[in-house]
Amino acid sequence: MTINQKDKSGSRRKPALALLIVLLLAVLIFLFSDAPFVKSARDALIIRLGYVSEERVNEEEPVSTVEDIADSESENENGSAGDAGSLDGKNLPKYDGNHYVVINGNVPEFPEEVYAKAGLVQEGDKWKTKGNLLGTVDSSKLTPYEFYNPLDEHGRCRAAYGCLGRETMPEEGAERGDISSIHPSGWAKGQSWERCHLIAWSLSAENANEGNLITGTHYLNYDGMRPLEEETTHYIWSTGNHVLYMSEPVYSGKELIARGVHMVARSVEDNGEGLSFNVYCFNVTPGAEIDYKGGIVTTEEQAAQDARLYVINKRSGVFHYPSCDGAKSMSEHNREEVTATRVELTSQGYTPCGSCEP
Ligand SMILES: [Zn+2]
Repeated sequence: MTINQKDKSGSRRKPALALLIVLLLAVLIFLFSDAPFVKSARDALIIRLGYVSEERVNEEEPVSTVEDIADSESENENGSAGDAGSLDGKNLPKYDGNHYVVINGNVPEFPEEVYAKAGLVQEGDKWKTKGNLLGTVDSSKLTPYEFYNPLDEHGRCRAAYGCLGRETMPEEGAERGDISSIHPSGWAKGQSWERCHLIAWSLSAENANEGNLITGTHYLNYDGMRPLEEETTHYIWSTGNHVLYMSEPVYSGKELIARGVHMVARSVEDNGEGLSFNVYCFNVTPGAEIDYKGGIVTTEEQAAQDARLYVINKRSGVFHYPSCDGAKSMSEHNREEVTATRVELTSQGYTPCGSCEP
């Protein structure tokens, strides 16, 4: 009898316990789930409680990304890179004498993985750290990181991005390492190319990382990108805050050298108040003509040169000044002397020697 009674009271307690557990689970899901219907219910409650203003930002149609533009470029390889003046999803911007053009009204936009990796959730034009009910950024729940894509099928860099902060920067007193071992896609010797960091060393402490170095002009490296990188570095050092940052080389079709770099940055803790930009920097040298497939740069001066005597290596396709050691030591079998202009030779597919730099 006693045993039976015990059983009865036990079976009465079990449903109560199960109900309690279910209720607890429901509360937890309501508080922390990111499922859309739960989220909207939670937001409605938060608004009622007066934590967030009722003004909701409508979810906009996604604006075309540089990737779309690169795709459309590769579909239309004969088209010149940029007849339109803006990134409208069809063409790349045309260089007009400025180091960069503003994209999307200078309002930063990131693919979801860029902020998701940092532990951030976007709500309208604001971000919060994941699970944060007050809709704010909790620095301690933020994940600083850097991400470098593997090279694409043509051996080219793709987007590099991260949540940058003092954690990702070089330690004080650290010195830059050697990056000369990296030969980014399209690299050609003797053409004044520079190895251009997608995410600057001062922000990433990355040296010879093939996913972070592209073939760039001095103009892109120093005049286009550097001021933006310095602004970002300065912001992080002066505030201790973090910056969501993306730097993406943009190619036309299968060309090996980027036409430009799309740079987007937004300070995290203050929701972009301290730092915010969305620009496209041109990989050009004013006045020079650039072959983005083969890496040959022709300055105005070189383009105006008269025909003169060159020595061509028929096997390698490299041409030299007759005075170059490479021309003197060439086997007679491969050697050919021509009188031509530099432009005539490069347009026929010959490559200027990286040593005598004709
Ligand atoms: Zn030479």
